[in-house]
Amino acid sequence: MTNQDTIFGKIIRREIPADIVYEDDLALAFKDVQPQAPIHILVIPKKPIVKLADAEESDRDLLGHLLLTAKRVAQEAGLTNGYRVVINTNSDGGQSVYHLHLHILGGRQMTWPPG
Ligand code: AMP
Repeated sequence: MTNQDTIFGKIIRREIPADIVYEDDLALAFKDVQPQAPIHILVIPKKPIVKLADAEESDRDLLGHLLLTAKRVAQEAGLTNGYRVVINTNSDGGQSVYHLHLHILGGRQMTWPPG
């Protein structure tokens, strides 16, 4: 089993379908199957980084690219009033898929603190 053997690895390899909204050499963005807001899109690196806690100094450019991709995807989704970007990390962070991903949530007023 490799790190890429997650549901997101299967989406990258087109082994299972996803509603893909953006793709480039380094990143993929697709709609979350269980949306928690009117707009709920996930941005993932194609590199199978398991979780934020495992990212390394050499991932600096890639991590920046993921944030800029989140901005781009949010803009293309029409989220002009704002949105939230979330990275759940490891068990206490509520991570359920162990392939780094950014949640983009928008289309409604977000509340604080999160659950
Ligand atoms: P997290 O709990 O932060 O690890 O987020 C994982 C997210 O992946 C959840 O919001 C799930 O709804 C979403 N998810 C799981 N499987 C799929 C899938 N096949 N396609 C799209 N989103 C998925």
